[in-house]
Amino acid sequence: MNAITIVGAGLGGLTLARVLHVHGIEATVLELDASPTARAQGGMLDIHEDTGQAALRAAGLHEEFRALVHPGGEAMRILDRHAVVHFDAPDDGDGARPEVERGALRDLLLRSIPPVRWGTKVVGARPLGDGRHEVRLADGTAFNTDLLVGADGAWSRIRPLVSPAKPSYTGVSLIELDLHSADARHPASSALVGSGFFFALGSGKGFLAHREPDGSLHVYTALTVAEDWHTTASARSKTAVLQHFSDWDPRLRALIADADGALVPRPVHALPVGHLWPRTPGVTLLGDAAHLMSPFAGEGANLAMIDGASLGEAIAAHPGDVEAALTAYERNLFPRSASAAAASAAGLATCFAENAPQGLLDQFAA
Ligand SMILES: Cc1cc2nc3c(=O)[nH]c(=O)nc-3n(C[C@H](O)[C@H](O)[C@H](O)COP(=O)(O)OP(=O)(O)OC[C@H]3O[C@@H](n4cnc5c(N)ncnc54)[C@H](O)[C@@H]3O)c2cc1C
Repeated sequence: MNAITIVGAGLGGLTLARVLHVHGIEATVLELDASPTARAQGGMLDIHEDTGQAALRAAGLHEEFRALVHPGGEAMRILDRHAVVHFDAPDDGDGARPEVERGALRDLLLRSIPPVRWGTKVVGARPLGDGRHEVRLADGTAFNTDLLVGADGAWSRIRPLVSPAKPSYTGVSLIELDLHSADARHPASSALVGSGFFFALGSGKGFLAHREPDGSLHVYTALTVAEDWHTTASARSKTAVLQHFSDWDPRLRALIADADGALVPRPVHALPVGHLWPRTPGVTLLGDAAHLMSPFAGEGANLAMIDGASLGEAIAAHPGDVEAALTAYERNLFPRSASAAAASAAGLATCFAENAPQGLLDQFAA
């Protein structure tokens, strides 16, 4: 295999680099962040058996991953806007969807591969023929590669080489916030959220939260608002966000009122369900670059990892034949991501329906 360039050191790009490394194939990973600690990698991820965990097995890292699992994190609680608990399942310890910190998982992958090229922003690429590409960097330099992989997330610079699709706004924005040392400093909120994942939903809005291993509560307040709302002062103001919940139970409002630090608004975007592209010589996509979806099925990171693992295995299985490898990879990628994207879109509709949380409760009952 000749030169392989992976743009993006997220979970998808790193899993690809690791699986290639396991097969004795080296790749260059380019990442715009200046260092591994340049950006907080907060949040818990539940790692699914058939995707994220399968990828970690292919990467030879499943044992090390098990050591990172947060005990109790698989608990689940669903409330309505009056803070009435309708569903409360403890972590039964079966380990089917273990919760880990995103940052710890990323560090595990980073330790398992040759060094990433940090502080290296790709600004574009162009085909040179025969599947080769010229990759341009923000520092004005350029280089050529034999296989180019866009693992560069939602706003991929590589996607335009294969597809004109752009992410569109889902109608939902999240406001991320934290309550630190919850047991000591926010005992009522700590008891309300419980040990694992927590939903409190009502018509068109709600709270998604989970407990982190350091004892803090990580909360996503969700609102159906205009796409540019996150640019307004209201999106960072507790008072303005609380106004959206004026008729909600005070115990839920306290999750906003008592937040430590700044509110971080994030509009949720998605690519069209079933996004795909024609086979394009020498280039492909994985993870959010290929199939950005809303987080309401908890699949995005899991898919990014299984995409990375499957692409790595396809490349190893077709030595010297990039096109055969990419054809085999995309044959599985497209149906897998279409079905997860449909589930994510349906999850979003269910979570923010007029009668929420009833639809979610019906799903768990079924
Ligand atoms: C609020 C929220 C909650 C979520 N919860 C879950 C969950 O519970 N479970 C789950 O499975 N998924 C979840 N997801 C989805 C998940 O975070 C993503 O699907 C996943 O991170 C995608 O991984 P990736 O490697 O494809 O992309 P990313 O993680 O976005 O990584 C892309 C990398 O590329 C780099 N990059 C971007 N552009 C360039 C460039 N031009 N040059 C060089 N480098 C570049 C970026 O800096 C980044 O490091 C959630 C998402 C959100 C927003």
